[in-house]
Amino acid sequence: MSNYVGIDLGTTNCAVSKLDETGRPIIVHNPDGSNITPSVISFSSARKYDVGEVARKSLGEPNTFGRFKRDMGSDSEFEAFGIKHTPESLSALLLKKLKEDTENTIGNIEEAVVTIPANFANEAREATLSAASKAGLNVKNIINEPTAAALYYAFHSGRELDGTYAVYDLGGGTFDVSIISVHGKDVEVLATEGVSKLGGDDFDRALQKIVSQKYKKETGSDLDLEDYNLIDAEDDKKSLSRREVIKVGLRSTGGRASFEVSQKDFEEAISSFVAQTEMLCETAIDDANLVPSDISEVFLVGGSSRIPCIQKSVERIFKRPPVSFANPDEVVALGAALYAAYKSDGKFLNSIQKQSVEKISVAEITSKFFGTISVGMSARDELARGNSIIIEKGEKIPCIKEESFFTLADGQTAVNCVVTESNTNETDPKFVKIIWEGDLELPANRPANQEIIVRFSYDQNQVMKCSFIDVETNKKTEVDLSMSKGKENADVDIDKFMVE
Ligand code: AMP
Repeated sequence: MSNYVGIDLGTTNCAVSKLDETGRPIIVHNPDGSNITPSVISFSSARKYDVGEVARKSLGEPNTFGRFKRDMGSDSEFEAFGIKHTPESLSALLLKKLKEDTENTIGNIEEAVVTIPANFANEAREATLSAASKAGLNVKNIINEPTAAALYYAFHSGRELDGTYAVYDLGGGTFDVSIISVHGKDVEVLATEGVSKLGGDDFDRALQKIVSQKYKKETGSDLDLEDYNLIDAEDDKKSLSRREVIKVGLRSTGGRASFEVSQKDFEEAISSFVAQTEMLCETAIDDANLVPSDISEVFLVGGSSRIPCIQKSVERIFKRPPVSFANPDEVVALGAALYAAYKSDGKFLNSIQKQSVEKISVAEITSKFFGTISVGMSARDELARGNSIIIEKGEKIPCIKEESFFTLADGQTAVNCVVTESNTNETDPKFVKIIWEGDLELPANRPANQEIIVRFSYDQNQVMKCSFIDVETNKKTEVDLSMSKGKENADVDIDKFMVE
């Protein structure tokens, strides 16, 4: 039997889901019997590694890596036993293990949908697709995490959802808020905001800092952070979600209670992060041209949404208590499984499963601005470089947009082709990220003012194709940003690595 699965490739934890015989998404438990697998890899030798809870216990030790999703698409290096890994190659190893474990439990994975934070940049999306392919997974579609969550809430609520909803997703390393219109199983994203480096990890550090300060006040000396490391802080942080006050112990005293930390201490310490999430919620509501009272319900996603002051903050902003009738660690994977079945060819679905996904429809929007850099006359009649937006943030996808530019000089034989990405509608090239650059050669001996069309197309997986076209000759420079095979790293051939 072959399966279509949804994989939530989280910063802190991963989860895998598939449809059961009755068409309901269920979690596929890992070999430890757990519903989530920590996104941690620990190498015991150059080519041998372990993943999950065992690896998490070694966090902080050499050759053990977590939270690498935060740097997805970048050149960050993680070295283990002389081999240099990237966030992408570590993700590939993690996905390879998830694939093996899942296939041992449920049989062959025919196709998988992997989830991505809504605000992931293009290169982080490509890196994720590339990691999945290196892990041997057949991934044709990805879905944004809030959309997957909304899909699951829409499915699971047992009633026809009809209206505008918010998905508030605060995990270990990223924060996203999305405003979504849901009619039955028809999910349309209206606006999305977020930051890729805000979440439970910051709260762990904040708690570690509280304990350090209490230690210093009491003993006059600095706390050795090994004596109360981030794993200790994370465990205590979770207890603090259940109790007003907790007793905190240090390793050197065998964990014997040394200090008291209250929810109030913790709330104060994380208040600047909470303020940032509140601002992003307000922007998202604004971007969707709504006011809080237009939003029917707020769905919670991500482990950090369990923190009481976070739930109070959500209530403050949206003026209603959030709903969390599902396990916030699982909803993204469960929604991805629904999407995987919906997007599949249906060959391995029974008739009930087919029925359960047949009415699904998902419409996403772009979460960044995409543009190109051209030279034009400034207000002071000087030649100046400027960023022109081709695809606006919030544009419904898939979409194709184009704009005409013109050559500047007689006899110009090339134009510099640039693709930019930005979070705001930015005209100054200094403040945009260049995600691709190349040249378009032009025929010699032509006068200035030759038309060059810049065409960007953005597909359902939110990866882009760009063409720079000389209209007279139809000569093109084209780039398929989804086709780049990610950051090549000679050391890391995924097939040569073995799970312990
Ligand atoms: P996720 O990325 O959604 O798996 O969320 C993981 C983050 O949620 C980690 O930072 C966890 O420490 C945090 N988390 C999980 N459960 C709780 C809890 N009960 N209270 C506070 N934070 C939690």
